[in-house]
Amino acid sequence: SARETDLLDRVPDGLFILGNWEAGTREPIEVQDPATGRVIKRIANATPEDGMRALDAAAAAADAWAATPPRVRGEILRRAFDLLQERREDFALLMTLEMGKPLAEANGEVTYGGEFLRWFSEEAVRISGRFGQSPEGTGTMVVTQRPVGPCFLITPWNFPLAMATRKIAPALAAGCTVVVKPAELTPLTTLFFAQLLADAGVPAGVVNVVQTSTARDVSSPIIADPRLRKLSFTGSTPVGRSLLAQAGQNVLRTSMELGGNAPFVVFEDADLDKAVDGAMLAKFRNIGQACTAANRFIVHEAVADEFARRVTERVQALRIGRGTEDGVTIGPLIDDRAVASMAALVEDAVSRGARVLTGGSAPEGDGYFFEPTVLVDVQPGSDILREEIFGPILAITTFSTEDEAVAAANDTEYGLIGYAFTQDLARGQRMIDRIDTGMMGLNTGLVSNAAAPFGGVKQSGLGREGGLEGIQEYLSTKYTLIPA
Ligand code: ADP
Repeated sequence: SARETDLLDRVPDGLFILGNWEAGTREPIEVQDPATGRVIKRIANATPEDGMRALDAAAAAADAWAATPPRVRGEILRRAFDLLQERREDFALLMTLEMGKPLAEANGEVTYGGEFLRWFSEEAVRISGRFGQSPEGTGTMVVTQRPVGPCFLITPWNFPLAMATRKIAPALAAGCTVVVKPAELTPLTTLFFAQLLADAGVPAGVVNVVQTSTARDVSSPIIADPRLRKLSFTGSTPVGRSLLAQAGQNVLRTSMELGGNAPFVVFEDADLDKAVDGAMLAKFRNIGQACTAANRFIVHEAVADEFARRVTERVQALRIGRGTEDGVTIGPLIDDRAVASMAALVEDAVSRGARVLTGGSAPEGDGYFFEPTVLVDVQPGSDILREEIFGPILAITTFSTEDEAVAAANDTEYGLIGYAFTQDLARGQRMIDRIDTGMMGLNTGLVSNAAAPFGGVKQSGLGREGGLEGIQEYLSTKYTLIPA
């Protein structure tokens, strides 16, 4: 449409280095609309040399930004929050175009992503320390916090705005400069956001963006450079492991938001209406492409049939289509590999005895769609219980005792989030204690909030984003003894 063309024309197509938009020297990156498979924009593609120049810029800007008063840093972030509200419709449409999520969800992401700007604009002035007398009475011990220094931020494609603001906002609030490498599948939102930050008054070099088709070749030299002090990554566990190994060379501070395999436990005493609402949200938000997505539905045998019947009814009422169309609730997956992976997971589960209650295949036509699917009688050992699904398949297994449910919930190397539905308060508290994850949804399918610490245990990652914890990831502690 004309509106889409006009918006895409207004999105910068360069690399953003030291406050300038650069054309780039390589074959451009072609960004696709996953609902049609068509190329919607061609943009600059960073080389490893471009990446190093972005780090040069971040290093050159580091001292001045660290010395900028916290109030000024906070006010710039607040201005960015306000500008984002003004440009809300553009950002929402842009995310739908490059990533596929329905417009209503893209709007929700503008709200969620924006809150990190507001939250950390408020936290910038609350960076504090402490002091006390040494136990021996020989002096005063002073503890202060300083920005860690230049940071490298690698973001994924599933939440193109929120994953960027969740890292950039606390880094800037803390006084750090950054190089951002957005996912090559959805770089446009980050470029548009870099323009917004410049408009909000972020000085040249404080935020640099290098999108590239060769993530590893551009990232490795940045991570190996002694000027870099921090690496923050959101993406898959295998890539996270490799980045952690590289970060070990220079003993970098790291934050890692990796994969999940969330259990969604429904007890026999659950409010089933709430459990079904929670399931729809935890499973089908973002077309199932969230690390917090419910991956394994573990349902008490007494309510499993009723739960499956009700979610199937709800799933059959979902509407698949391009995210820009009114009433669409399920957009396309990100690419054809994702579609193939859904088909393979269903086939494996069915070959081991699962039954398909609805969906189960890719519809005919253009774009990377897969039908929202419900599987029951999923058998132990099925790939779908072990792998992060990252798509619209709801897989149900059953249990009979609480211990069995807990054992099944914890039977994974991941530990990002768990969901439990019960009306028994004591049981709810036991679930908080016993489910081994960094986050918990108790009788709710959505917990993310800029004011709360997001992150996992086990192989789901290291560190927390958001909350009071989020800014700590970009600060280092300094202790000084002042003799009496
Ligand atoms: P997903 O499975 O969600 O695509 P990835 O972990 O592959 O997750 O990608 C997340 C981000 O990590 C993207 O920005 C991608 O370009 C980047 N990435 C992938 N491989 C590497 C690598 N070897 N080094 C640095 N960044 C990488």
